[in-house]
Amino acid sequence: MAIKQPKALNPFAEAVAQFDAAADRLNLSQELRAILRAPKRELTVNFPVRMDDGRVEMYTGYRVQHNINRGPAKGGIRFDANVSLDEVRALAMWMTWKCAVVNIPFGGAKGGVIVDPRKLSRTELERLTRRYATEIAGVIGPESDIPAPDVNTNPQVMAWIMDTYSMHRGYSVPAVVTGKPLSIGGSEGRMEATGRGVSVVAREACKALGMELKGARVIIQGFGNVGSITAKLLHEAGCRIVALSDVYGAIHNPDGIDVPVALRYVQEHGALNGLPGAEPVDGKAALELPCDILIPAALEGQLTHLNAPRIQAKLVVEAANGPTTTEADAILHERGIHVVPDILANAGGVTVSYFEWVQDLQHFFWAEDEINQRLEHIMTRSFAAVQAKREEQNCDYRMAAYLLAVARVAEATQVRGIYP
Ligand code: GLU
Repeated sequence: MAIKQPKALNPFAEAVAQFDAAADRLNLSQELRAILRAPKRELTVNFPVRMDDGRVEMYTGYRVQHNINRGPAKGGIRFDANVSLDEVRALAMWMTWKCAVVNIPFGGAKGGVIVDPRKLSRTELERLTRRYATEIAGVIGPESDIPAPDVNTNPQVMAWIMDTYSMHRGYSVPAVVTGKPLSIGGSEGRMEATGRGVSVVAREACKALGMELKGARVIIQGFGNVGSITAKLLHEAGCRIVALSDVYGAIHNPDGIDVPVALRYVQEHGALNGLPGAEPVDGKAALELPCDILIPAALEGQLTHLNAPRIQAKLVVEAANGPTTTEADAILHERGIHVVPDILANAGGVTVSYFEWVQDLQHFFWAEDEINQRLEHIMTRSFAAVQAKREEQNCDYRMAAYLLAVARVAEATQVRGIYP
C-alpha cells in the first residue's frame, strides 16, 4: 500500500482560500473575485553572481505585484533557501490586504531570492543584492513599487538596493526602498515598527477579550527583527516571556525570561541556546507549552492541523506572515482560541514604511516620538475597526480584517473600472 504523502503546503492556495472566504461573505461578483485573486505582475529573474573564489553561480529571484489599485505596490524582499514563486505570490497578496486594513495608500507586492544568505560572505551578498536589484529595476521605483526588508534582509541590503537603483539613474532616489539606514533617508522607528505594532495589537486584543496583559505568559517563535523587538516591548509592558525560539532551537523558563539579557546573549553568541536560567526545548514543542499569548514571528505554516489541537494559548497574535494554515485556523477557532491575523498584527512595519516614503518624498523628516505616536494611532484605530466588524458580523478576527481590507480594495477596483 502506498504511503499517503502529507498534503504539501502551498501558501498561495492558502492565501486564495482566505480571500475566497471573505469574498463569499461580501458577495463579491465573480469578475471582481477573478481580478483580485490574480497577481497583477510576476517577474522571475535568473542571474549570475561571481563568488569570492572566482566561480559563477546562478540564482533565481522574483518580484510579484499583486494589486496596485489603491497605490504603488509595497512589500518586502526575502532571501531564503525555501523561497518559491507561490510563496512570493501569497506574501504579495497578503501585503495588498495588510495595506488596506490599516488604510495606507499602497497596493501589495513581495520579492524573494532563493538563497541561504548565511552561506555567503558579505561581498557575495552585496553582489547578489546589487545584481537582483538591477534585474528588478524595471518594475520598482518610488511611484511604482517600493521594496523593504523581510526575512534575512536588513537596512544594509536596502542601502545596496537604493544605491544600485540611484547609480542607474544618476541621482539619489531614497524613496525607492524603505527600511533604509537613517543616514540615507531611513525613518526613525522603522527598525522597531513591526514589533511595536505587534505589541500594540496584543495589548488592544487583551483589552477587548478581557485578558490582563500585565503578567500574561507569552511564547514567541522567532527572534529576528520582529520577534526580538516584540519580546522586548512586551517584557517592558509587564508580560512574562516564558519561551523564545530561533532557527537553532528554543528556550523555556516558566518564571519568565529576562529579555534584555537574552538580547545581549544573542548578540554575543549568535543564538538563544545556552542562555543561563532557561531550559533548552525543541523548537516545535515550544509552541505547545502553557501560555496565554502565542506569537509566531518566524515563517509561514507553523500552526497546522497537527499542533493546533495542542496549542494552550488563549490568544494567538500573528507577527509572521501566514503562520497559521486554514485547517489550523478552523481548529483554533473551534477551540475558542482567538487569532489576530497577520494582516493586522504585523502591519506596523509597512505603516512606518509609509511614513518613511512620505518623509523621503517631502525631504522633511519627523522625530521618533511623532512617528511612534502616529503608528500607535493607526494600529489602535485599525484594531478598533476590526473589533467593531467582528462584533457586527459575529466572526473571528481574521474574517473581520479581511472583510474590511477586501472591501476597500474591491471598491477601489470597481470605481477605477476596467481599462480600456
Ligand atoms: N516585510 C514587511 C511585511 O511583511 C514590511 C513590508 C514593508 O515595509 O513594505 O509587512
